[in-house]
Amino acid sequence: PYTGPRVDEILQKRKRFLGPSLFYYYQKPLNIVEGKMQYLFDENGRRYLDAFAGIVTVSCGHCHPDVVNAVIEQTKLLQHATTIYLHHAIAEFAEALAAKMPGNLKVVYFVNSGTEANELAMLMARLYSGNHGMIALRNAYHGGSAGTIGLTALNTWKYPIPQGEIHHVVNPDPYRGAFGPDGARYAKDVQDHIDFGTCGKVAGFIAETFQGVGGAVELAPGYLKMVYDIVRKAGGVCIADEVQSGFGRTGSHYWGFETQGVIPDIVTMAKGIGNGLPLGAVVTTPEIASVMAQKIQFNTFGGNPVCSSGGLAVLNVLDKEQRQKHCADVGSHLIEHLKALQKSHEIIGDVRGRGLMIGVELVTDRELNTPAKSETTAIFEKLKDLGVLVGKGGLHGNVFRIKPPMCFTKEDADFLVDAIDYALSGM
Ligand code: PMP
Repeated sequence: PYTGPRVDEILQKRKRFLGPSLFYYYQKPLNIVEGKMQYLFDENGRRYLDAFAGIVTVSCGHCHPDVVNAVIEQTKLLQHATTIYLHHAIAEFAEALAAKMPGNLKVVYFVNSGTEANELAMLMARLYSGNHGMIALRNAYHGGSAGTIGLTALNTWKYPIPQGEIHHVVNPDPYRGAFGPDGARYAKDVQDHIDFGTCGKVAGFIAETFQGVGGAVELAPGYLKMVYDIVRKAGGVCIADEVQSGFGRTGSHYWGFETQGVIPDIVTMAKGIGNGLPLGAVVTTPEIASVMAQKIQFNTFGGNPVCSSGGLAVLNVLDKEQRQKHCADVGSHLIEHLKALQKSHEIIGDVRGRGLMIGVELVTDRELNTPAKSETTAIFEKLKDLGVLVGKGGLHGNVFRIKPPMCFTKEDADFLVDAIDYALSGM
């Protein structure tokens, strides 16, 4: 059993020695001390069903033995030397990742996080296009660095600093968006921004294909295809942020952007690529990569032997255990049962998603879609008491984000639905 420091002591230290901007979940936060596949354990040995995967990061499962072994074996041999020397792991990992990409997306850059990946992607877009303006979606999250904070478009995360030339277009949110599910009208708004808000040329367009932090929003059908055409005509490149939606999580496809039938010019990834290792990547075409060669582009830890070995193990596990298909099977089962639950609970305004990338939006009024903020918080706490951990998101904090480790089973899904049903019934 766990014998280390407990909640109160850790919380006190966090408050004294860590930045005050840190936030935590739950009135009395959990001290999580162990993880095993889709389960987490707290300091008292209590087990929780994890339906949020450390913010959509644990793909194969907590401490998946293949990934753990790959990391341990590499750690014993060599932890670090940097890319000034050769190492087989980074080359093999890049080859395996490129094999997963469509079209001409064959050049890989390794970084350490999603923020870094999007910084690099934005730099590439600006260098390649020779333009500066970026287009991003309202309700997007792309990172918290001085550059990516400009792309992020939820006021919760935006510090008041200069954000560069970023145009935030109307969000193609089929449930809450101004034009409902009409992808063409949202695409027209992108054209309007280019025509009226820029010199007519842009550096690029970036979007999550399923908004994560923004509350599990799947973009209106057909949107990306139309927008990619518009942006390319204006000289820009198209970036897909796959930090949350990649690696088969959506079930129907390996990459989120494939659900919209497009091939981006740059794809950014992080989180699930490492199953918890600090790892991110940018994949682009040789043509775009060539403009980066005018200078040295260097990242001390990017693609280090330990993360590369772990990342390669992740890709292999997802293939070997057929996780994409599993996400499709378990996800459709879960969505079907959540939709059934919606019939008996007026407060469930929307159930949406694909595979194991699911959102449940709570409203106090189904006509006006009024966010049920305090109710969401209360049920969120109750679910934790019942032993189920979900995420919370959306600008109003009224969306449950259900994005478990990809080893989540149908039995886990049934337990989750029962827990939500029970929590809502007690309201
Ligand atoms: N893009 C998306 C879609 C994300 O969800 C996140 C993190 N929530 C990021 C980028 C930034 O990733 P990181 O926190 O690893 O910098």
